[in-house]
Amino acid sequence: MYGWVGRILRVDLTTKKISTQEYDADFAIKFMGGRGFAAKILWDEVGPEVDPLSPANKLVVAAGPLTGLPGPSLGKIVVAAKSPLTGGYGDGNLGSAAAPHLRKAGYDAVVIEGRAEKPSYLYIEDGKAEVKDAEDLWGLTTFETERKLKEIHGRGTGILAIGPGGENQVLYANIISQEGRAGGRPGMGAVMGSKRLKAIVVRGTKDIPLADPETYDKIAKECYEDIQSKPNYEFWIRQGTMATLEWCQENSVLPTYNFREGVFEYARLIDGYAMEAMKIERRGCPYCNMRCGNVVIDSERMDSELDYENVAMFGSNIGLGHLGKVAVLNRLADEYGIDSISLGNTLGFAMEATEKGLLKDGVEWGDFKRVKELVEDVAYRRGLGDALAQGVMRLSEKLGGGSERWAIHVKGLEVSAYDCHAAPAMALAFGTSPIGAHHKDAWVISWEVRTDRLGYTEAKVDKVIEFQRIRGGMFETLVSCRLPWIELGFSLEWYPKLFKAATGVSVSLDELFTVGDRVYSLMRAYWVREWGGKWSRSMDYPPARWFEEPLTKGPFKGATLKREGYDQLLSRYYEKRGWDERGIPRRSTLEKLGLGDVADQLQKYTPLTP
Ligand code: SF4
Repeated sequence: MYGWVGRILRVDLTTKKISTQEYDADFAIKFMGGRGFAAKILWDEVGPEVDPLSPANKLVVAAGPLTGLPGPSLGKIVVAAKSPLTGGYGDGNLGSAAAPHLRKAGYDAVVIEGRAEKPSYLYIEDGKAEVKDAEDLWGLTTFETERKLKEIHGRGTGILAIGPGGENQVLYANIISQEGRAGGRPGMGAVMGSKRLKAIVVRGTKDIPLADPETYDKIAKECYEDIQSKPNYEFWIRQGTMATLEWCQENSVLPTYNFREGVFEYARLIDGYAMEAMKIERRGCPYCNMRCGNVVIDSERMDSELDYENVAMFGSNIGLGHLGKVAVLNRLADEYGIDSISLGNTLGFAMEATEKGLLKDGVEWGDFKRVKELVEDVAYRRGLGDALAQGVMRLSEKLGGGSERWAIHVKGLEVSAYDCHAAPAMALAFGTSPIGAHHKDAWVISWEVRTDRLGYTEAKVDKVIEFQRIRGGMFETLVSCRLPWIELGFSLEWYPKLFKAATGVSVSLDELFTVGDRVYSLMRAYWVREWGGKWSRSMDYPPARWFEEPLTKGPFKGATLKREGYDQLLSRYYEKRGWDERGIPRRSTLEKLGLGDVADQLQKYTPLTP
């Protein structure tokens, strides 16, 4: 095989057994890599009997056939496991030098199971791996951990680490690399913590086998030039995703006061221009020539790397109109290894619960000092922080008082930074995202705002599926960053060309999207198997607030989502995906996608529609 290395590293932390699994071209083409490999491995090996925080859960770190090749934005890697936050399939991607190093070390993926007797880290170097002692590292932040490990193993290593959030199993703890690149929102850091695995350190020096290296280099060079020639390139370099904040405010989709409103009175103070005034440098993922990590000096005179999502969630969503303070919260979340989106969402919920008298000694809107204490308490599971560490769904169940109506999550994963009172397609994207409410798979809101804002049309269903096939399918399995395409208009047609030069295999874009369809039905089967007879289409509904409480301000004052309209969108979505009215893949769909064995197993948990 070319492109793929063809080897998966297997590590059992309980027994310290380390082995290598080889796979063939059929497996590679069928599941491609990244999310595809992770979904297949978790389906086969982590069933409903497995507690996500038990040794039997498996952490999958998976690259794809383009990962780590010099080419635009190909320095990312997928981290996946059964999620302790949602109980379903969970994954995320992050940019890290660990991505190219893993492939150059001779592996496409690592699967880690068991639980180490004492704090440990995994060291991988050129075809070998070793579990090493991490007792001196346990308790350190993600930044400190990476620095220490670089002192030991050298600067030229790739490192994935957890902080106190992961160690203490905050249910939305994530994995951090390079002091600011984060991934694995649905608790992948907590899974690492439950295994007493502090970090994965990788060094690889081998060549990744390419079918046609000369052509590959030529195409990659053209890709870089193409990206740099895009009309929006200069502005992207200035603001990156931070430009989204002003756009969200103008279009009334900026999450504000726990997703109560879509506009924030202090938006100007936290937008891309405010960020530019504080910016000192840019950081980013390996091999990227449009690096989007905007580094500012925060109110405590430390570096913090901002993007739109974390600014909206620690800014407008909690009523904090001060970018320097927002940056402090963002840095702390990264240092502790806690997902900033889920944390900002949960804090917003706690503020509303305080306002409504459900939470005594809680936290007021915009109270930076109290929030800062709480972020630390979340990381160390102290007092109210312990309740917040379990996410918004569990906190709402605990508080009662009708708070489930304004607990802003889908399937237990906190909604990311787009208010959908007046955005039905984006609500559908959140509802049907395969990890719970995340924008990664189908960020259709920009298209929706430009076209038919309030309609419930078939075109919206088509757009959500189109984006899921591209973003959640192709990009997550090749493993490549989607931002060159979505932000700068870099053509998708480059990817089959890069793929052919790397692997020697000719594929059309549609064939790449079909891999995405297969993986989507597999991830859906995973969720359904977990829930068995209890699965229902209500799992795909967005939060009740968007249906029930109209916006009170801004250009869409009075708007809510319409239940009947949403249900129609959802039914059409299921139909087009080949799933039944419950949102469960039909047997015929699974068979058509080459997943007949999945159908046979799923049938044991719930009756399948033919
Ligand atoms: S655009 Fe941003 S997220 Fe994407 S690869 Fe570049 S630095 Fe990473």
